[in-house]
Amino acid sequence: MSDLHDNPQPPAWPLPDEAVEAALRRAFADGSWGKYHGPNCRELSERLSELHGCEHVVLTCSGTAAVELALRGLRIGPGDEVILSAYDFEGNFKNVLAVGAQPVLVDVDSVNGQLDTAQLEAARSPRTKAIIASHLHGGVVAMPALRAFADQHGLAVIEDACQMPGAIVQGRIAGTWGDVGVLSFGGSKLLTAGRGGALVTRNAEIVQRIRVQTQRGNDAYPLSELQAAVLVPQLDRLAERNQLRTENVSRLLGLLTDVAGLSCFVESGLSGDTKPGFYKLGFWFDSATFGCSRDDFACVIRAAGIALDPGFRALHRTHARGRYRAVNDLPHATRADDSILVLHHPVLLGTAEDVQAIRAAIK
Ligand SMILES: *Cc1c(COP(=O)(O)O)cnc(C)c1O
Repeated sequence: MSDLHDNPQPPAWPLPDEAVEAALRRAFADGSWGKYHGPNCRELSERLSELHGCEHVVLTCSGTAAVELALRGLRIGPGDEVILSAYDFEGNFKNVLAVGAQPVLVDVDSVNGQLDTAQLEAARSPRTKAIIASHLHGGVVAMPALRAFADQHGLAVIEDACQMPGAIVQGRIAGTWGDVGVLSFGGSKLLTAGRGGALVTRNAEIVQRIRVQTQRGNDAYPLSELQAAVLVPQLDRLAERNQLRTENVSRLLGLLTDVAGLSCFVESGLSGDTKPGFYKLGFWFDSATFGCSRDDFACVIRAAGIALDPGFRALHRTHARGRYRAVNDLPHATRADDSILVLHHPVLLGTAEDVQAIRAAIK
């Protein structure tokens, strides 16, 4: 089973898309496929700026690089501390180390699996400079509370929206609660160019400092014209696809109400002023109810053709104690490490029958 935990096979993605094919033909016809500069990056930047209502967009080679650049743009470095969830994307932890700062891990909320904002005060020290808030697996961080805390103490917020471009988080587009918002266009993501990322911000000074990092006679962290060309048509359909994914998540949760032992991150989070995005859909798995381990369960469901995998490893369990500071013994992040399952998003663009098949496999 450990093979599966370490190296799950991704489901088929991206799906065939005629608008992307047309964009590739245009990039071929106008030669932008082979140019440093052309219309595509410009158009993508404008579109992202418009979508987020943020004046500044920096296109990057990955979401991971965008987070690193955000930290550098916020002048975070040696001697500083950055608070993040103990259950988060590995790259966020590594980025804090990469700029020479210390990660401070806080526990997750026991219901929605996201950074628990009630832990922020205990995590704060005189050295705290920033908070990284990632919206994961269809759950959203309580951003109004996090933003209020950050403002009260003069901390910067990096909002990692890599898993939910175009989502609405407590009334705002995901990424715009942060001083900097980060997107990924990696090969498994909802908007994909195989690789790529972006950061959005209203703060011209941050962008200026990022330019100092990236402009080395050439752009050292580039997104290419060809990548931008395939992203623009995907942005055209993002809202429609987010809507379809949300409908299928609702359908699936309706079908799973009589299944004990699986509780979804978004059980009661699909209404009101939040419309999450679904790169993955997270569940807490109760092995006692199912009478098998989380990893064995995932294996069986996978064998039935459903892309369900264990979630992230918790950061406090995969990194030496000397690399970070932690607020307490992180009980819910520990449980997350042991028991989170994630359903990958491609099936959420499928039909009602595809969703029904998930229930059938679980049953
Ligand atoms: C995918 C992802 C990233 C960045 O990914 P890249 O592959 O570097 O573009 C960052 N944070 C989260 C939460 C992610 O899921």
